[in-house]
Amino acid sequence: MRMLIILLALTAAGAHANVRLYLFDCGTLSLTDVSPFGLTNEETAVRELFVSCYLVENRHDGQVRRLLFDAGLPAAIVGRGDVSPEPGMTLRYEISLLDQLAALDLTPADIDYVAFSHLHFDHVGSANLFTASTLLIQREEFQAGFVEPNTVIYQPELYLDLADAPRQLLEDDHDVFGDGSVELIRAPGHTPGHQVLLVRLTDPGPVVLSGDLYHFRASRAMRRVPLFNTNEDDTRTAMDKVEALLRSESATLWIGHDQALAATLRKAPAYYE
Ligand SMILES: [Zn+2]
Repeated sequence: MRMLIILLALTAAGAHANVRLYLFDCGTLSLTDVSPFGLTNEETAVRELFVSCYLVENRHDGQVRRLLFDAGLPAAIVGRGDVSPEPGMTLRYEISLLDQLAALDLTPADIDYVAFSHLHFDHVGSANLFTASTLLIQREEFQAGFVEPNTVIYQPELYLDLADAPRQLLEDDHDVFGDGSVELIRAPGHTPGHQVLLVRLTDPGPVVLSGDLYHFRASRAMRRVPLFNTNEDDTRTAMDKVEALLRSESATLWIGHDQALAATLRKAPAYYE
């Protein structure tokens, strides 16, 4: 029995040792008023949101396959200092995702799969580069973003080059590399087909990349739903699902927009595995 437990433990560790996670700084989004997020301006002091992009590498039998998860602020603002697209919002983006990939000796052609937590402008800013990658997208997000583009919540020009890219429409959770190491988790509500990403790392252990399930730590602590989400009930169901997943996987949640968290995390070219 003892031997069996050791063998099982070795198998579990070995199965996940082939994944690397890179975090890129894809900009900063500053707000003067957080009330649209369902929080009062007294309930959180946070006004600066980090914008995360992630690269996941899966190594198996000498083959490397890569997933890009989220594509940051619009690439057009890189190097322009503070840009204010609307009153109360300031954007800043220093080094493009393309250049950050190049620093790893990668080009968009090296990215096998691309997935976005959702199609809001601060998550698809370099999406149009990845026309050769297979787009992994929930069916409802594809419908709302591509088939009948909703220009109230999306800026389709940022991603519409992917309309004819290879794609896989998802209707549930999805095992990206087929080995259980990385899973897209369907978590709709913020947008019609929002999803989060589970990455089974060895150290620090499994992590869940939140997308915009939560924007602030206070949103999670107080279960607050942004007023601009497409469906509040679905959002709460998604929160319950992801919280249950975090417990069952003993996983850590990384809130993508959490500047204070990002300040403590390794950025590319450093990585987690
Ligand atoms: Zn966002």
